[in-house]
Amino acid sequence: MLAIKTVQQFYEPDKNIMGLLEEFRRMMNHCIQIGIAENVSSLKALSLKSYKQLATYDAMSYYKQCSISAAVGVLRNHRKNARRGGSRTPYVRRLRLITCYGFKVEDGCLLLPHRPRQPIRIPLTSHVQATVRGYSVRSVTLTRDKLALSYVKQIIEIRPKGFVGIDRNLDNLTLAASDQLVAKYDISRATRVKATYREVRSHMRRNDVRIRREISSKYGQKQRERVKQILHHASKQIVEAAKRERFGIVMENLTGIRRLYQRGNGQGNSYRGRMNSWSFAELQRQIEYKARWEGLPVIYVRPHGTSAKCSMCGSRMTRVPEENRQLHCPTCDVKMDRDVNAARNILARGVRFAPIALPVEAMVQEPRTAGNPESRWERVNVKAYAPKS
Ligand SMILES: [Zn+2]
Repeated sequence: MLAIKTVQQFYEPDKNIMGLLEEFRRMMNHCIQIGIAENVSSLKALSLKSYKQLATYDAMSYYKQCSISAAVGVLRNHRKNARRGGSRTPYVRRLRLITCYGFKVEDGCLLLPHRPRQPIRIPLTSHVQATVRGYSVRSVTLTRDKLALSYVKQIIEIRPKGFVGIDRNLDNLTLAASDQLVAKYDISRATRVKATYREVRSHMRRNDVRIRREISSKYGQKQRERVKQILHHASKQIVEAAKRERFGIVMENLTGIRRLYQRGNGQGNSYRGRMNSWSFAELQRQIEYKARWEGLPVIYVRPHGTSAKCSMCGSRMTRVPEENRQLHCPTCDVKMDRDVNAARNILARGVRFAPIALPVEAMVQEPRTAGNPESRWERVNVKAYAPKS
């Protein structure tokens, strides 16, 4: 099995690169038009219909092929949207080139084919050089200020000793592992960043829609970058801890999760906004590729009902008045933290579907008290969770 990772850096494009980016965008838009007119969206069909028509463009054939596959991506998304009612013909404005052919990483530079025997050279930062060293670089993505290299390695999936279930909440992630440890990971900084930008945006009173949009997207970009960094920090620590324990990871399958937080579901406006903006999808994506890179299995389970049922007996839990993070199980007659309960339910679902049998002792071990200095999650700086009793 292959695992993919990406590393990126800023760079200054020269006029050759800008020309290439422009040309790539034009070719993509041309292919998109052909795809719509001929009603094709498979790579093979679109290549047949459009490759000859790209002859007039001043770019090497590497880029022509890649512009066709980039167009295929746009056409597929367009099809999906069209099914949901959107129908405007897509037009790519953003400068973004993806190529998987002809480039080289050599002497600290990225060499992109340009004119015969005159490649474009872009110096790579020492971080990027060190990151891709020893791996095979599969593709290059260029925008007007950033470049990204995707690199791959062959991995062998680890046979896990246990699993860790991850529950997502407004301000934290809650982890429950097969060895009974629980941990909460504070993610409120990401929520706060989002909230601040939302606030700034809501106060913009410029009448010109275009200016508003521009400012808005600028803020949006900064915001996304900052939130991404926070999430990277969290996902890194979670995967490192799981790797140390040889634990697989269980998460909720969040496809369509946004529908859970739409208008009319009885949640407040701000709750809905915060829940939607939290980008679980991004966090999951990060955890998944980082875990796969380490050979750790990742399992997705259906999210329905993970928060309402008791993780020990399956009964429906009731809320504990005055303690809004606590739930009570009428059958077991215990109070439980709702996030921990949910994480345990997710874990249990994952273990049930795990392809391997877990050692029995992992399942029946006595719960360790939180704050235990032996807590391995604690040592990796994931805040150990102390239940209120
Ligand atoms: Zn119970």
